[in-house]
Amino acid sequence: MVQHFLQRIEKNKDLNAFVEVFANEALAKAQKIDAEIDAGMPLQALTGMVLGIKDVIAYQQHRLGAASKMLENFTSLYTATALQRLLDAGAIVIGRLNCDEFAMGSTNEHSVYGAVKNALDNTKVAGGSSGGSAVAVQANLCHVALGSDTGGSVRQPASFCGIVGCKPTYGRISRHGLVAYASSFDQIGTLSHNIRDAAVVLETMMGSDDFDATASSQEVSNFSTKLPQQNSGKRLAYCPQMLENKGLNKNIRQQFYTLLDTLEKQGFAIKKVNFPEFDYLVPTYYVLTAAEASSNLGRYTGLLYGYRSKNGDTLDEIYRNSRSEGFGKEVKRRILLGTFVLSAGYYDAYFNKAQQIRQRIAQRTQEILSENDFLLMPTTPDAAFNLGELPSQSPVEMYLADIFTVQANLAGVPAISIPAFHNEENKLPVGLQVLSEPFSEEKLLQFGHFLMEESRRV
Ligand code: GLN
Repeated sequence: MVQHFLQRIEKNKDLNAFVEVFANEALAKAQKIDAEIDAGMPLQALTGMVLGIKDVIAYQQHRLGAASKMLENFTSLYTATALQRLLDAGAIVIGRLNCDEFAMGSTNEHSVYGAVKNALDNTKVAGGSSGGSAVAVQANLCHVALGSDTGGSVRQPASFCGIVGCKPTYGRISRHGLVAYASSFDQIGTLSHNIRDAAVVLETMMGSDDFDATASSQEVSNFSTKLPQQNSGKRLAYCPQMLENKGLNKNIRQQFYTLLDTLEKQGFAIKKVNFPEFDYLVPTYYVLTAAEASSNLGRYTGLLYGYRSKNGDTLDEIYRNSRSEGFGKEVKRRILLGTFVLSAGYYDAYFNKAQQIRQRIAQRTQEILSENDFLLMPTTPDAAFNLGELPSQSPVEMYLADIFTVQANLAGVPAISIPAFHNEENKLPVGLQVLSEPFSEEKLLQFGHFLMEESRRV
């Protein structure tokens, strides 16, 4: 398997999904596993599964760059808890995957390594920020890839690439060893071809961790073995305000309603729900994540690790020049925005207000999800953008395209994107997104599995 993927990675280099391939090391681990199998040793849950990891996940003695000049030449001293659990279960890491710098972006064009191309059409973006992770799976360069999702970075590229992306409940997976963007939103997630792969990797990573106090100790069931069971619940909700959104491609809207009809005929109850906070999702998300980012990224001073400017004689000049030269444009925009909303005089008007609205968004979302099993919507308003099109034109336009994905992170609930729709002009995919109650990944994955089996049958 490793040889197969190495050949494919080489052949598909122009997609720019991998920023580093651990060829020798992956082959050596594969040989060791082969020998163990020959010796009759028992197989583990992930024996031989070939993984790619987003460049924001720490792997001991390997480079960790967050796709930023700021971390060029930085080598991690330890391994992220989530990754360690996968390694212990027999997984093989084949390489490090491209992403937007510090996971900020929706197109994977803000990367020191250059843009990732969508394998279905190389004039299109892969999505972001986990674009390399999505394309590595889409183009069959590994079995499963790890991504991180602060406001959609796993689900949005999955939608653009026609694969499955899952973000668990906030706190389900330890963030120890995940480069911090906005700590009250960040969660590790999976990109995969199917639900079964996602389930087995997720359940292996989940669970409490002494290194992360926000990692939940809620019990983790073996949901990968229970996928075909249909206990998943039949009460589906959708929000007309979301579907009426002007940015949503009208064919996708139509396809969404057709899907609801089909599900209704199969015995699901469909309910319209009201979500008055809808217009506040994107502004609230961007105020709060920028604020958290400005604080988290304060650690990159040029002194402790990472890039240090050669210009400057005083401490202040070294800080300033290292940060000016080391961070890219989008990251600087977020730091400035975050510093602004946290500054005296604006704190109450922006940061505090956004915290209050987040509370309402979370409450209303959880209310909907306690009265219904699932909330459904398209993952993205349309299929993949053209390369070079969006961020240069208007960052605000790019932020607005996150309209459907940020809710799950603001509310901390689990969400999955599965391939379901397509843009009728260029045939490129768009995902269906499903949200469910906190810690209900088992039923969420069962429902996702059902939908994927169903679409195969049609
Ligand atoms: N596009 C969103 C942002 O730029 C989401 C990023 C993410 O989930 N890491 O903030």
